[in-house]
Amino acid sequence: MKIIAIREATMPIGAAMANASIRFDSMTASGVAIITDHRIDGKPVIGYGFDSIGRYGTGALLKERFLPRLLAAAPDALLDPRGMIDPDRCYRIVMVNEKDGGHGERSGAVGLLDAALWDLRAKLEGKPLWRSLADRYTRPDASDCIHVYGTCGHFRPGEGLNEFQDEVRRAVDAGFQRIKIKLGGTRTADDCARIEAAVKIVGAGDCLAVDLNGGLEPDIVGDWLHHVEPYKLAWIEEPVAPLDYSLLASFIKLCDTPVATGENLFSWDDARNLLRYGGIRGDRDIIQLDVSLSYGICEYLRAVGGFEAAGWSRKRFWPHAGHLFAAHVVAGLAIGGHEAAADSRLPYGGFWDGTRIIDGQVRMSTLPGVGFEGKANFYNLLAPLAASAR
Ligand code: MG
Repeated sequence: MKIIAIREATMPIGAAMANASIRFDSMTASGVAIITDHRIDGKPVIGYGFDSIGRYGTGALLKERFLPRLLAAAPDALLDPRGMIDPDRCYRIVMVNEKDGGHGERSGAVGLLDAALWDLRAKLEGKPLWRSLADRYTRPDASDCIHVYGTCGHFRPGEGLNEFQDEVRRAVDAGFQRIKIKLGGTRTADDCARIEAAVKIVGAGDCLAVDLNGGLEPDIVGDWLHHVEPYKLAWIEEPVAPLDYSLLASFIKLCDTPVATGENLFSWDDARNLLRYGGIRGDRDIIQLDVSLSYGICEYLRAVGGFEAAGWSRKRFWPHAGHLFAAHVVAGLAIGGHEAAADSRLPYGGFWDGTRIIDGQVRMSTLPGVGFEGKANFYNLLAPLAASAR
């Protein structure tokens, strides 16, 4: 098996919506196709990867450094002793001559490549990715059924609480039992109005999580918690700036509700500082490190292992939205649960076509690899990358 080409395209995925931190109007994402000379049923085996959403495409980094390093390596250097493509070996090759620390956005470029390599490996093995991961890392507790929640309720120009409730209702109608919404964090009354509007649809506070995207004004924390904690929400997400561990620790001291954070930490280096200095609690808080934005699975497992060594359960890890790829990671590595963009009309929203959410859980696709081919609007984005190879 030899890689004969790797193609990247940076795609506009902008939408007129916002959270407390950014607008998404000019958002982009990278898609990658790894094309091989290996054929199954007469067709070349192609590994696909797609960025996690919210950090822009990484095409320039990939084309300048990481793809040339991978393509320059001897083909056998990319394989494990069984002759199978080995993403861990590929990671070491693409990270040659990269200094420690200062992770920047290279972690997203490398993570995207890692995701495509894992899709490729699982396809070569003829297994869904979750099964391939469970076998590679010996996880007898892996399961093809995962807990999921749906994210919605961004801020959109001209939309009020009625439109917001309609969106939450669509997520509930799609089968999600737990929903996450965005809050502004600048006026307690506005945030409580959104919480109450959403609770009317989802039925109870513990079916609702709220995401502040680091935007909770420090001056209103006391008043905000006084009004929000009685709702007994599932969790409060990113109340403070993602790298301010001291401020997070101060917030957590005041807050009984579970706190979720970590989606903007892109390495075990950063996650270790969260563990050491963030005041997080192993009995309730949730770690949202994003697999694809954090160098990929080998680095993610370093972080999970580090937390486990400190007494945490890997069930407290709920990765930030990484669409179908992250769902496989959750299933195959026995991680806590999966975040999905609730709207399946989005390429990176929902699950494989025809998937039903039952009792807050989803059964994995049986397609080889991630199964992008089984979600038509997603595959329509990725397929042109390898059109001439098929
Ligand atoms: Mg978030």
